[in-house]
Amino acid sequence: MNDILEILQTENFSRENLVRLLKTNPPDQEILFAKAARVKELYSGNKVYLRGLIEFSNVCRKDCYYCGIRKSNQKVERYNLTGRQILDAARYAAEKRFGSLVLQSGESKGKAFTKRISTLLKKIHQKTNNTLQITLSCGEQTAETYKEWFENGAKRYLLRIETSNQSLYRKLHPENHSFSERVNCLYDLKKYGYQVGTGVMIGLPFQTIVDLAGDLLWMQQFDVDMVGMGPYLEHADTPLFAERDRVLPLKDRFELSLKMIAILRVMMKDINLAASTAMQAADKLGREKAIKVGANVFMPNITPGVYRDQYKLYENKPCTEETPEDCLSCISVRIGLTGNEVALGEWGDSIHYYSR
Ligand code: SAH
Repeated sequence: MNDILEILQTENFSRENLVRLLKTNPPDQEILFAKAARVKELYSGNKVYLRGLIEFSNVCRKDCYYCGIRKSNQKVERYNLTGRQILDAARYAAEKRFGSLVLQSGESKGKAFTKRISTLLKKIHQKTNNTLQITLSCGEQTAETYKEWFENGAKRYLLRIETSNQSLYRKLHPENHSFSERVNCLYDLKKYGYQVGTGVMIGLPFQTIVDLAGDLLWMQQFDVDMVGMGPYLEHADTPLFAERDRVLPLKDRFELSLKMIAILRVMMKDINLAASTAMQAADKLGREKAIKVGANVFMPNITPGVYRDQYKLYENKPCTEETPEDCLSCISVRIGLTGNEVALGEWGDSIHYYSR
């Protein structure tokens, strides 16, 4: 039997076999993609769930070497949307029956920030008649803060581990950023009842295929409910840009990301898997391609237009010129092209969460 077929049929996802899957090229690669598509269809049918993404602030206390909105980047104009602007965007998502929202920001900490988010959560639920499920993605916080936000109506949280290899993590972050604290945050989130999402960047300088296989195993072992992952993309105003000669060509990083998505879909059949914005930044049809190999979540950006350009984690971020209206008509067409349909008005909770 063909090696790849055998691994997929026996579902023997040892590190060694994951490396083999990650190294497949066409035509074997098509066996993997077809299997992932079948699994996706079996578990979420031909549906793709929407999450309206509001990048409400680019103010950040962290200094991650890869990220364009890191604290030390003086070239970024910092913004913070008003409560009114956030509520308007949330109402828009409710009117268009998106089913759910993601509130993402750089990392701020402290009592005032915690309270601000709690108040926003309550107001959004009130003004949209509890029709939206809310995901937060505001970085590392204390256990009490996570608990408070959950009680105020945030039911999902996204916190990427970025890489599961601790020594690589060290290379990508300053001394005072801690891998184990990030992991602890993920366990706190689980403890308080969130649907927990994590993810990694793919094609980072110094990262190996074995590291990526380790990432897949790490996510499986953590028993994550949702995953968002995509290619690492350079940003000229970051320290990691100095290592740009070490990274794979963008096309290869993108292909590797598709394989990561497809493999994880086969490993974790009932999780929610996002077709991330970075996928589209790397390839014009990147999100559609991700959906075709197992992703079932699409996150249209509904941040008010003037600010979109300021939330630049990496270069060539797509759709920064669009209005939310442009975005919506574009989404249905794009998802239609993949043979899927947009699940309007549905929360699209992680099935995995309810079965663990
Ligand atoms: N402050 C939040 C949100 C971070 S931004 C937090 O810490 O979780 C969301 C994600 O963008 C990050 O987790 C990271 O994986 C990704 N990202 C940042 N810079 C990137 C880059 N240069 N290329 C690709 N992805 C990047």
